[in-house]
Amino acid sequence: MSNTKPLYALALHGGAGPTPGRDYAKTEAHLSALAREGEAMLNAGKSAVDVVEHMVASMESSGLYVAGRGSAANVAGYVELDAAIMDGNAHGAGAVAAIRDIKNPIKAARLVMEQTPYVTLAGLGAANFARKMGLAFVDDPASYYSIPVGTTIEEMRGDGLAHGTVGAVALDIHGHLAAATSTGGTFGKPEGRVGDTPITGVGNWADQEVAVSCTGVGEYFMLAGGALTLAHGMQLAGDSLQDAVWRMLDRVQTLGGDGGVIAVTRSGEIAMAYNSDGMKRASVDADGTLVSTTFAPCR
Ligand code: ASP
Repeated sequence: MSNTKPLYALALHGGAGPTPGRDYAKTEAHLSALAREGEAMLNAGKSAVDVVEHMVASMESSGLYVAGRGSAANVAGYVELDAAIMDGNAHGAGAVAAIRDIKNPIKAARLVMEQTPYVTLAGLGAANFARKMGLAFVDDPASYYSIPVGTTIEEMRGDGLAHGTVGAVALDIHGHLAAATSTGGTFGKPEGRVGDTPITGVGNWADQEVAVSCTGVGEYFMLAGGALTLAHGMQLAGDSLQDAVWRMLDRVQTLGGDGGVIAVTRSGEIAMAYNSDGMKRASVDADGTLVSTTFAPCR
């Protein structure tokens, strides 16, 4: 019998761009507890894709982040949600964009990946598909979402909610990687605006080498190439994980944007980096070392 310790890694983010000086102890505690739950799932042999879906669904349901329940309405007064998931082993991906009134968009993304030949469904078609698959919808949007319609951007910032996309990346004990990301988008967005999150290869990516989830002003991540730029930095340019992370983030910054990224590799390396004011994040490695922080420097 082998006594080699199983190799796994898990990283979570709750969004880049928190408000400096604010206390995020509640979010950090939530992320720590989730990371421990994810670690137990990985230790029990659960697949990376099951773990990242569960992590993101829990964050969506918590109302603590700008994803799922915690999302803010667009300028027209209703919530539109984006989410994506990718299974690096099966090389499958699924996403939903600008979907309304669904409780857990990440579950719809997973079903797009597994039950359709498509990668992305948007708007009404995405919602109709998710209803057909039996997913839960919100009965009364006005009372379900944690941010009341009409809350100004300044009020949201006052609440410490500058960005709050959520993401999870995992390496499971079978050596497989997966990534999941979900968002209510940026504050003050117009109807129909879709950010980087549900664009596979930009906001979310997993292959057999690395799993990546981004957060920040999505337009800049799209213009910078996003997650696949990071993966290609490693696979084509021979970058280390850290160099690849900063190659992508520096490109975002050069274009005038900011944000952050989490990534894990098939050798269990973890990166959590940002060029914004901070990033709510947590990770746990195969030694059981847990990190949960918002403002600790990352470079
Ligand atoms: N990237 C997300 C978007 O642009 C927002 C965020 O990460 O906070 O929709």
